[in-house]
Amino acid sequence: MRFSRAFIPTMKESPADAEIPSHKLLVRAGFIRKKASGLYDILPLGVRVLLKIERIIREEMNRAGAQEVILPIMHPAELWIESGRWDVYGKEMIKFKDRHERDYALGPTAEEMITDLVRKEVKSYKDLPLNLYQIGRKFRDEIRPRFGLMRAREFIMKDAYSFHASDEDAEREYWNMYETYSRIFKRMGLDFKAVEADTGEIGGKFSHEFMVIADTGEGKLVYCEKCGYAASTEKAEQRKPEIPEKREEGFENIEKVYTPGVKRIEEVSEFLGRLGRDEFPPEKILKLLVYVIDDKPVAIAVRGDREIEETKLKQVFRRKNVRLATDEEIEKFTGQPKGFLSPIGLRIPVYADYSVIPMVNFVAGAGEEDYHIKNVNWGRDFKVKEFVDIAEVKGGDPCPKCGAPLTEKRGIEVGHIFKLGTKYSEAMNATFVDEDGKEKPIVMGCYGIGVTRVMAAAVEQNYDENGIIWPVEIAPFEVIVIPVNVKKEEIAETAERIYKELLIAGFDVIIDDRNARPGFKFKDADLIGIPYQIVVGKKAKEGIVEIKVRRSGERFDVPVEKVVNKVKELIEG
Ligand code: ATP
Ligand code: MG
Repeated sequence: MRFSRAFIPTMKESPADAEIPSHKLLVRAGFIRKKASGLYDILPLGVRVLLKIERIIREEMNRAGAQEVILPIMHPAELWIESGRWDVYGKEMIKFKDRHERDYALGPTAEEMITDLVRKEVKSYKDLPLNLYQIGRKFRDEIRPRFGLMRAREFIMKDAYSFHASDEDAEREYWNMYETYSRIFKRMGLDFKAVEADTGEIGGKFSHEFMVIADTGEGKLVYCEKCGYAASTEKAEQRKPEIPEKREEGFENIEKVYTPGVKRIEEVSEFLGRLGRDEFPPEKILKLLVYVIDDKPVAIAVRGDREIEETKLKQVFRRKNVRLATDEEIEKFTGQPKGFLSPIGLRIPVYADYSVIPMVNFVAGAGEEDYHIKNVNWGRDFKVKEFVDIAEVKGGDPCPKCGAPLTEKRGIEVGHIFKLGTKYSEAMNATFVDEDGKEKPIVMGCYGIGVTRVMAAAVEQNYDENGIIWPVEIAPFEVIVIPVNVKKEEIAETAERIYKELLIAGFDVIIDDRNARPGFKFKDADLIGIPYQIVVGKKAKEGIVEIKVRRSGERFDVPVEKVVNKVKELIEG
């Protein structure tokens, strides 16, 4: 490709709505343009990257035995009604009618579409297993589209679905996909972690998210360097503390304290600390919240310095409808004022997080306006209905498997694998006749990769103050040849020669043949992030050019006739 002919509109300024580096840089470097909220034009450089990402995905999926299909993006409503998701999926699904007033949706995911295909064709266990995938557009009317391609309303996803005669076989394929995803993200040159993830309504233990490590990630994960445990914080378990046998020995007498207008944990901690000799860090204060779980109020207690992870809460109660009670509801359900809730004499059941187990002589609300109580002890002063694991795990917490301290990072979810079981096959009557002659529902799994999100995530992990630094495996071009002055014959000729040799050798190369100042060209090359730059300057006369490595900034002189070999060495090395 010749830069002079290429459609690469680079810009000096970042767009005003771009908050994170990948969004800024992909726009500035001419990979994408915003059309409307959550909708992007992908320009030629962007397409080149996406095709490389897709190629790696295709190669690895095919190698793993999956087969590619293309299903319609227009999904007939009947299928979603059959699975029960037409109403449940909610506002994220874009729905419309055709000219005959029939309902359709733009596919946000394709379990229904694929199950419909398979149920019509698969009759016997002999037709199984199957793993079918597609790479295509998905539509989700996200509440808050943001971060450019990261959370868009229209995006490209690779979605695969597998079909099995038994649970064991679905499990085997799950791990096959786990390995495949690991290979895919490794080949893309990304720093990622596969973490245990929440399984939502389906339950069970088979769900992993593949997270690209980045500070701007919307997700959080913890992992153990010692034993390898890794989980999304939506799922990560706490190690259950032991309940000491002689807890009662240290119990002190309850004491009521006047705490006018002091409600929040930090305020209570500060206020009590100022009152007397003792310190009252948040770890000594009980946080008590009222939740409404499927219309029933429950009190949830957690140590003052901990946050409740609502995904875990939903999982513990096996309920989808979990929300904080409103102020009026709190008064109605407990008869106590918000901000001073006491676990003592509470009318609704108290569930306490594991973090409450080791707490003794702690502070809690007094159940009346402007008062707290000190030296509260669970067991003696109030009954805990059940100790549950609902607090968010943090870095430094003990690993639930081996006890070593966990490391916490932020990450971008680029892939998700999931064992579905028979949820869709039962709802949609997708059955097969097994070896024993019995008709059974097909066991399913599903496996997604956010193709456009991967492009953004890769930038989030690979950039500096000058621009993007693509991993060579997914770079739009592997090499750029930069003649510093196209008006100088020996420079232009040498550059052209090198360009052609690299083309013939099969490299993805672009030549910056524009009649522009060298500084201008170098800036663009750095911004776009092409891994290797071949600078053809004055030394061309002596048959010498310079190679610059984008990532390290390293430069070295290379004789013209050795350039192809050197590039090969750099890319393959
Ligand atoms: P998230 O929690 O980020 O909304 P999700 O759980 O809804 O993701 P899945 O339904 O598992 O996502 O979709 C598979 C993959 O598609 C995700 O791992 C992610 O990489 C990608 N993806 C999901 N939503 C979007 C979006 N709005 N824009 C770009 N990529 C997306
Ligand atoms: Mg989502």
